[in-house]
Amino acid sequence: MIIGAPKEVLEGELRVALTPESAKQLQKLGYEVVVETGAGAAASFNDEDYEAAGVKIVPDAKTLWETANIISKVRPPVEAELELAREGQILISFFWPAQNEELMKKFADKKVTVLAMDMVPRISRAQKMDALSSMANIAGYRAVIEAGNNFGRFFTGQITAAGKVPPAKVLIIGAGVAGLAAIGASTSLGAITYAFDVRPEVAEQVESMGAEFVYLDFEEEQQDGASSGGYASVSSPEFRAAQLAKFRELAPEVDIVITTALIPGRDAPKLWLEDMVASMKPGSVIVDLAAEKGGNCDLTKMDEKVVSENGVTVIGYTDFPSRMATQSSTLYATNIRHMMDDLTPEKDGQPNVNMEDDVIRGATITHEGEITFPPPPPKVQ
Ligand code: NAD
Repeated sequence: MIIGAPKEVLEGELRVALTPESAKQLQKLGYEVVVETGAGAAASFNDEDYEAAGVKIVPDAKTLWETANIISKVRPPVEAELELAREGQILISFFWPAQNEELMKKFADKKVTVLAMDMVPRISRAQKMDALSSMANIAGYRAVIEAGNNFGRFFTGQITAAGKVPPAKVLIIGAGVAGLAAIGASTSLGAITYAFDVRPEVAEQVESMGAEFVYLDFEEEQQDGASSGGYASVSSPEFRAAQLAKFRELAPEVDIVITTALIPGRDAPKLWLEDMVASMKPGSVIVDLAAEKGGNCDLTKMDEKVVSENGVTVIGYTDFPSRMATQSSTLYATNIRHMMDDLTPEKDGQPNVNMEDDVIRGATITHEGEITFPPPPPKVQ
């Protein structure tokens, strides 16, 4: 069968779902590979690179959707792509089914099987297909780079002939996948890095990466926002008050704040309030990776950079992975390739949507004309 990647249609999206390297691996699974002309150009993969990897280049999206049996994309499909989709096709893409129910129904009605990369269960076996983690890792790293780009000083301390420069102080709120990547980037640039999370189990990880875990003055168990399954839940009012008091204390001290705090299925908790921004030094920078979910900072504007009255830059971009399109395409294409590996146990170029397989079952949101979302909980961890 044939697997193909169209050029992404969303304005400003620079990633591509297949790379020349992933295309070679897909051919080893027995597939022919096609790519729309120019699909990888913004991520520095040219048509010639694909051709050298044995990929056929097609001239437009229409031909691509007509040619390929399996379509791999980054962004959820748009209506124009729905028009091009046909019965029996398999689409593998980010989809966000809970937010795109209408579109999911239309794909089910068209008898297209859709595997949503954002629905891959977060179990050990599926880590190699976990595109959410791949993208969160890049977002965390890039948040630090973006902060540095908007910060007028070094991260690292220096003693120079022209004087002594103190190291920057960076606070990272939320130490999940993105937060840990931000900690890694910040410490490697030489900043004094602090990190906070409601899940106490991450303290050790934070400290092993050279950052200091921020503990609260809280009488109960140190952190109470932790819940089962490794995700956070809503904090109690007392815990929240202790958390905000600690942040208020830190605000005048820190130069850069990177917020990554999310609670599954809810708006992002507001953790960096207006008065904290007001007490920061001019020239400080806040990067809010929770902007898409409403933001952790009161001043965040989604997809914008704003400067507060006292000169603090607040960045609410939501396209950090796309800003590192070569890296993110490489990791995403590898996640897709592993998904194809799972779908093709015989390595014969014939996908088998095996609904007994936890990972495939979890990701499959439409199949044989039916909506198969939400999936039952996975049987293995
Ligand atoms: P996430 O994006 O849902 O949240 C980011 C972080 O924000 C989390 O660490 C969360 O605890 C924290 N947070 C929430 N409310 C907060 C608050 N009020 N103050 C401070 N921090 C707050 O999380 P994620 O990055 O997707 O990862 C969550 C967990 O899942 C981690 O333990 C991660 O290691 C785990 N995980 C497991 C797998 C796997 O096994 N395949 C894959 C990915 C992630």
